Amino acid sequence: MTEGAGTMEEPWLPPSPVDLRTDLPHPARVYDYLLGGKDNFAADRAAAAEGLRANPDSRTPPRENRAFLARAVRFLAAEAGIRQFLDIGTGIPTAPNVHQVAQAVDPTSRVVYVDNDPIVLAHARALLTGTEQGRTEYLDADLRDVDAILSAPRLRAALDLDRPVGLLLIAILHFVGDDDDPYDIVRRLVAALPAGSYLALSHLTGDYRPAAWEKVAAIYRAKGVTMRVRSRAEVERFFTGLEVVEPGLQVVTHWRPDGDAAGEPPTDGSVSVYGAVARKL
Ligand code: SAH
Repeated sequence: MTEGAGTMEEPWLPPSPVDLRTDLPHPARVYDYLLGGKDNFAADRAAAAEGLRANPDSRTPPRENRAFLARAVRFLAAEAGIRQFLDIGTGIPTAPNVHQVAQAVDPTSRVVYVDNDPIVLAHARALLTGTEQGRTEYLDADLRDVDAILSAPRLRAALDLDRPVGLLLIAILHFVGDDDDPYDIVRRLVAALPAGSYLALSHLTGDYRPAAWEKVAAIYRAKGVTMRVRSRAEVERFFTGLEVVEPGLQVVTHWRPDGDAAGEPPTDGSVSVYGAVARKL
């Protein structure tokens, strides 16, 4: 982020300001806009509006996904006894954040957040407000650079990789194209964690509304952002070798619902996000 600061050629320059590229839509900010947040710019809102024209239910996936995230973390903390979390693709803070859910179950829970978006980085302080007994850390890193994430001193200081970890890959892998071998990324991350660790993962799918999601993906692609929705079988493949907990891979609305959601649940097509939680044996 501060590369270029204090280089040999221009040692007097202050650290270069982060270029947020507000002229281009960014997934984290489009997602924030669709959730009703304020951390977005005109280009993000324009892309979201285009997406809403292609798929009028575009606000439903982020909302349902975010609710799945909270239920999955609560399950991991309260039922699976997980006390350490690695959340890659954190997004702009939206309450409840992972540390709030985990530390409500046990205030000593530790969370390492990872994202590669400068605007998420700008909000990192809001993510670092954990309990005194617990710990939260933020890494500015790319999911595709697994080694950099796993060897980061801040991760090593916060997480004990000899004890089970809850790895969260929530609504991030549809931003990783096939060229970057997302299956190998997940395999390497899981390989670094001990038995008894868990993977919670959610992913956009075009299974229900292929034409609408192809349009949304094309809107992102035209702006230089990779979006690759995946089929049920393609999402299931991320869990190869792991023991998927009940009720298996589901459209996220059906994954251990709280039962306190008001009104009719949204249709599977309007949600179009699969999610599951699995245990490393
Ligand atoms: N997990 C959150 C946010 C999902 S939005 C939730 O489910 O609510 C997707 C996030 O992934 C964005 O913040 C985006 O910046 C981040 N992201 C996308 N590609 C990434 C990559 N290659 N490395 C790290 N973060 C990435």
